[in-house]
Amino acid sequence: GVPEVPVRPITERRVSRRIQVGPVAVGGGAPVSVQSMTTTRTSDIGATLQQIAELTASGCQIVRVACPTQDDADALATIARKSQIPVIADIHFQPKYVFAAIEAGCAAVRVNPGNIKQFDDRVKEIAQAAKDHGTPIRIGVNAGSLDRRLLQKYGKATPEALVESALWEASLFEEHEFRDIKISVKHNDPVVMIEAYRQLAEQCDYPLHLGVTEAGPAFQGTIKSAVAFGALLSRGIGDTIRVSLSAPPAEEVKVGIQILESLGLRQRRLEIVSCPSCGRAQVDVYKLADEVTAGLEGMEVPLRVAVMGCVVNGPGEAREADLGVASGNGKGQIFVKGEVIKTVPESKIVETLIEEAMKLAEQMDQDGVGP
Ligand code: SF4
Repeated sequence: GVPEVPVRPITERRVSRRIQVGPVAVGGGAPVSVQSMTTTRTSDIGATLQQIAELTASGCQIVRVACPTQDDADALATIARKSQIPVIADIHFQPKYVFAAIEAGCAAVRVNPGNIKQFDDRVKEIAQAAKDHGTPIRIGVNAGSLDRRLLQKYGKATPEALVESALWEASLFEEHEFRDIKISVKHNDPVVMIEAYRQLAEQCDYPLHLGVTEAGPAFQGTIKSAVAFGALLSRGIGDTIRVSLSAPPAEEVKVGIQILESLGLRQRRLEIVSCPSCGRAQVDVYKLADEVTAGLEGMEVPLRVAVMGCVVNGPGEAREADLGVASGNGKGQIFVKGEVIKTVPESKIVETLIEEAMKLAEQMDQDGVGP
């Protein structure tokens, strides 16, 4: 489960309306949720549900599925019913799939107004259907598919163009008294993206779905997303996030969760505080940190474990952590809650840390700390 209470909020959150994506509240002070998108053919129900199960296990809270064909639309009802987390149907081009997704019981529908012909004329019916079923809509504007009129007006997908597109579509829904909306204005350039969301946040109170679109392969995409989300979330902007990587979707979730934990918007689980090593190191810090990380993988309690290469900062950091080691002279001083509990030979550091971590985790579980 995900802890409800932010532990160390970096700033006041922007005040936004709240919508419900199935059981997950988005906006209105709800914890920032992490979402991802399946890469399977949606019509392959088994494979899609399998991937959703993996995403759920990795901590994903909301999942989006593409719906480019009638077969995909036909699969939505089963997927929505059997998924452990709320399913959002992602619709481009064909308004008929918007209705199909709403009928199928999807927790929300994402529409891209730039990619749906005569979208504006269909808004009334969409608003009515969504209202009847209590289905929120994400207006998902994307730099790569900006409304042609706005592309002509602004020359390219500027922040102003993205915001104008989103707010125009929202105003059409508002005309039909429909406000169960969240908005995204994605761009692949974090600078444009940050500015777009900043402007959007000032001009409306809808909850915002953050995303850097087409962010790239894992390394580049992780950095782009972390920088952009960090800039926005640190100003209180953003209610749900999706990291887009050219990598398996569970990786996106891991990155998303780490971003929220780094900003104190979600309670940390395991944290390894390890030094970068330097000419003073008396132990192979990289290897030690990797082995400790691997040994403690999946630990759910908020445990801070320090792995330090020598005695310069070692004892200090190790003392600040729940558990730590400061290495030196072929030995490791093991700290628990600030006290040296023992000194072990280098070959025993990893197993001793893991052993002590398990004891602490058990204690924390009994005390009801953690998720
Ligand atoms: Fe270097 Fe020691 Fe600091 Fe690690 S803890 S970076 S080995 S001085």
